[in-house]
Amino acid sequence: MGKKGKRPFLLVRLNLWALALGAAALVLGAAAAAGVSAMEKPVEVPIVMYHALLKDEAYHGRYVVSPAEFEQDLLYLKRHGYTTILVEDLIAYTQGGSLPEKPILLTFDDGYYNNYLYAFPLAQKYQCKFVISPIGRYADQYTETGETNAYYTHATWDQLKEMADSGLVEVQNHSYNLHANRGGREGAGQKPGETDAQYEALLAEDLGRAQEAVKSHLGKAPQAFVYPFGAMSKASPGIVKKLGFAATMTCREKTAKVTRDPESLYGMGRYLRPTGMSAKEFFEGKLGLG
Ligand SMILES: [Zn+2]
Repeated sequence: MGKKGKRPFLLVRLNLWALALGAAALVLGAAAAAGVSAMEKPVEVPIVMYHALLKDEAYHGRYVVSPAEFEQDLLYLKRHGYTTILVEDLIAYTQGGSLPEKPILLTFDDGYYNNYLYAFPLAQKYQCKFVISPIGRYADQYTETGETNAYYTHATWDQLKEMADSGLVEVQNHSYNLHANRGGREGAGQKPGETDAQYEALLAEDLGRAQEAVKSHLGKAPQAFVYPFGAMSKASPGIVKKLGFAATMTCREKTAKVTRDPESLYGMGRYLRPTGMSAKEFFEGKLGLG
């Protein structure tokens, strides 16, 4: 032993000191971060819900707006300093990330081909982002038939992948085959008389099938579940969370308030964008934006 033997001991002691100091710094840092996040105001994130886009006025209504109206919405948001974000940005925020000053989410339900035809080129033109939530079985069906028709077909997996790969579009889960009112069940809601266990098995099977379909075609599984028709029961939130979704969206018209707490991403409300309103009327009159 001798000199050589002592040195390692000294080093160990120094390392212990460094560890202790590091641990103290970590504790202090965590406390500071917790203090900051407790004081932080929730971020108001308005979420807009669109369905189909069609040029033909005869079809315009609550669930069909014109591509021109969508373009006016994008222009309004640009002019008023809003930044379109995605669910992944909200998740990152709960993990310590940052959000732009005036964030907003644009969502398209059901995955229509006309979203690919009209909304995607406009998103590219203005570099705006949107979420699309396809119904798994229809993406499968039109991928198989290859039929494209602005009035009724749904986007194929190739079209969804092309949009997702652009970085402007995020694909989320809107069920594989629960987008219906069938056998006493509304959407992915719970049937009267159905036990929570039966209901959980159904959601695990159907939502899981949609997860796998998106993952196999796009290489990435959705992180959010968008309730078809907003239908849900008391048991739904717990089950959907247990299935691994980090966020859910409903059809209740309210502004989401996002905090650093991951819980704040469940049950986020959305505003239905109907036809026949100017962007100003919709965003200021209905959503209360300025
Ligand atoms: Zn839907």
